[in-house]
Parts: sequence; structure tokens; C-alpha cells
Amino acid sequence: MRYSYTQISQYLTCPRRYRHRYLDGWREKDTRAAMLFGRAFESALAAFFRREDSAAVLFREWSGCRGQDLQYPKGDTWDRMLQQGIQLLERFCQDGRVRIRQPQRNLQVKVTRSISPNHEFVAYIDAIGYLDGRHCLLEWKTTSSRYPEEPEGLLALDPQLVCYSWITGIAEVAQVVFVRKRLVEVQYLRTSITDGQRQEFGQLVEDTIHRIESAQFLPHSGIRFPQNPCSTCPYIGLCLGRRDLVDAALVRRPGAEDLGWLDELTY
Ligand code: SF4
Repeated sequence: MRYSYTQISQYLTCPRRYRHRYLDGWREKDTRAAMLFGRAFESALAAFFRREDSAAVLFREWSGCRGQDLQYPKGDTWDRMLQQGIQLLERFCQDGRVRIRQPQRNLQVKVTRSISPNHEFVAYIDAIGYLDGRHCLLEWKTTSSRYPEEPEGLLALDPQLVCYSWITGIAEVAQVVFVRKRLVEVQYLRTSITDGQRQEFGQLVEDTIHRIESAQFLPHSGIRFPQNPCSTCPYIGLCLGRRDLVDAALVRRPGAEDLGWLDELTY
């Protein structure tokens, strides 16, 4: 059985949500423009490191979404996002702070770790390279608002970075955040993950897998205003028994009923 960060994180967000997605086969429809743009932008970044025309790759990939009935963040349009993406690529290139040697090997790096004879954990790291000359693990993020940088040390608590540090054994980690706003910005955020954090994360993975395999899927989303995760959860239609909300947000993976795809890793 293979596990990924997304699976563990979905379970920790709400075990019921994990069941809807991984056991019952419900998936969110790919109609979020921001998410699709993020994928197109990552392809463009890969092209940049391969010394190809990254703007052309962004245009090509993002054109695949043109004309689709997508949900755009407030005030955004297909054209505006493309323009911001090109400006971000230019800014990133001008900054020249990130270096990736042998991009074929060091981009989208697959790393696996055995947890037990029957369990394996797998991750795809965006890049392993250098930020300002220092070797580190890198994650790309596209967003419409800046990532918070205060209080100092906040980034070291990022669970995805801790996970990737745990699976690779690399202590130095960084996020490169591409902020789509009126004046685009690239944030370069770096931190170190300690041995203690990596050990704790390993225990968290083992504990979570144990709970998943014990079929513990009680909902514990938290229901308090204003940070009620249910209000933004794509699976709310299932939890409320509302067919209209299910149809609007979800599709069911064909053949999910037979559970035969449980061994297949999904992100
Ligand atoms: S709607 Fe709430 S209870 Fe239901 S899966 Fe989502 S977070 Fe969990």
C-alpha cells in the first residue's frame, strides 16, 4: 500500500473527507482556474530550467484551459492570469536566485521511503537545487496573495516542507511563491527542519496509517465560526446529503465501488 503527503494531509484535515475521496472515489471537478493555472505555470518553470521558451510553454499549457467553464478567483480572467504568469517568469529570471543542476534529474524528483514491509511512502519534490547558492529542497507555489512571513520561523511549521524533509533527509528547505497580484512578486522563503521534526513526522505518518487501516473515519472538521473547514470543503454535499452540491463540485471515479484502485497512488 502506498501513501502520499496528500493522503495523510486529507486524513488529518478530516477523516470523513479522506473516506469520501480515497475509499468512495469522489473527486473534485477540475474547474478551479487557479489550480489549473498553477499546473500550467509549473510546466513553464520546468521549461525555464531546461532553457526552453517558458512563456511559450505557459501560453500553450494555459491555452488548453481557454474557453472552459472555469471558476476564476474574483477579478481574474484567462488573459489577466496569462499576463501575470509571464511577468512572474520574467521577474524570476531577472532575480536569478534559484539554480537547478541537471534539471532532467532534479525537477519533479520522485522519492520513496519504506515504512513497513507492506507500506511505502512516495513524494514528488518540485526541485532539488540551490537558492542563493545554498543547497536545498524547493517547492513552487502560485497564489493570489502573499504568504505570511511573520512571526519569524513560521515556515518551519509547514507540514508539507516537514514531510519532504523527512522523506529526503534534506534539512534545508524553501518555498518559492509566485504571487499574482497587481504588481507581481516572487517570495523566496527558506528555513531548516530539525531532526526532531522529521522524527515526529515519521511517527505522525505511522499513527495516521494505523488509523486509516483501522477504518477510523469519523468526521472532525471543527464547526466553529469563522474557520469552519466544512464551508470550503468540496465534499460538503455528501455530508449534507445534497445532490445538487455533489453534482456541482464532484465526480465519482469510474469503478470506485470495487475499491480495486486503493493500491493506486493519487495526488
Ligand atoms: S464537509 Fe466537513 S465533515 Fe464533511 S468531509 Fe468536509 S470537512 Fe469533513
